[in-house]
Amino acid sequence: MTDVSGGAPLLGEPLSIELANTTYAVRGHPREGLETPQHLGTWLQDVRLAITDVDAVELAAAVALRDAIRRLATATVDAEPLPRDAVDLVNRHAATPARWRELRAHPQPGTVARSAGGDVATALSEIAADAVDLFGGPRRHDLRACQGPGCVLYFIRSGRREWCSHGCGNRARAARHYARTRAT
Ligand SMILES: [Zn+2]
Repeated sequence: MTDVSGGAPLLGEPLSIELANTTYAVRGHPREGLETPQHLGTWLQDVRLAITDVDAVELAAAVALRDAIRRLATATVDAEPLPRDAVDLVNRHAATPARWRELRAHPQPGTVARSAGGDVATALSEIAADAVDLFGGPRRHDLRACQGPGCVLYFIRSGRREWCSHGCGNRARAARHYARTRAT
């Protein structure tokens, strides 16, 4: 059986953060969640952006956008200036291709998403638009890097949550407990 998902976690975060989190860690070991075009195809389907085949060029574009978003996230949580080349790359994706919603009259009034580009390019554009709103808006103050042991994920804080997930929270509590018992 081949792994078509890449194993990246989905945490219900904004799209740009979900893409950032496709590089993740399992027990402290780094993992690449977008190793193959199939991984990206499955991921795009999982986040309901596109159901399509992906090629190697599109995969490289997605990974480059992912890395730019991660650098913006790092700068944001460290209260550093946003790296210029990462800003430029996100803006390039946000600008193309054109996306719009069309009014549909039949069978009943509704909207349908349309775009001038390919499915993957449009999905990356959607993610970049989310990154623009996130890093340029008030939600950036709630962006956090998970404090779980060995975890490299980002999340938007709600309440006093310090971890991306229950799993990381439990591991962090266990590690603290272990440190305390060793100290006494
Ligand atoms: Zn975590």
